[in-house]
Amino acid sequence: METAIVEISCAEVWREISNYVDDEVEPELRARMEHHFQNCKRCIAVLEGTRNTVRLLTDGDWYPLPAGFGKRLFQRISSAHSKD
Ligand SMILES: [Zn+2]
Repeated sequence: METAIVEISCAEVWREISNYVDDEVEPELRARMEHHFQNCKRCIAVLEGTRNTVRLLTDGDWYPLPAGFGKRLFQRISSAHSKD
């Protein structure tokens, strides 16, 4: 029997994805997101884009992302990958 993991939506994944990259999500949420990534190519693309961007922006030194940053990033990524 599989471990019961409550499904979450792409929108919930995107809302938490910067926290996920920073390793600041609850273990339970992390498990849900990892489960989601196994089944959702779009969210994997967003995750990779977020990781690359965060790495680029922080360059080893953390500072807060500007408001609206995530939304713009996700719009760019999802339009680049929206060939369902
Ligand atoms: Zn998704």
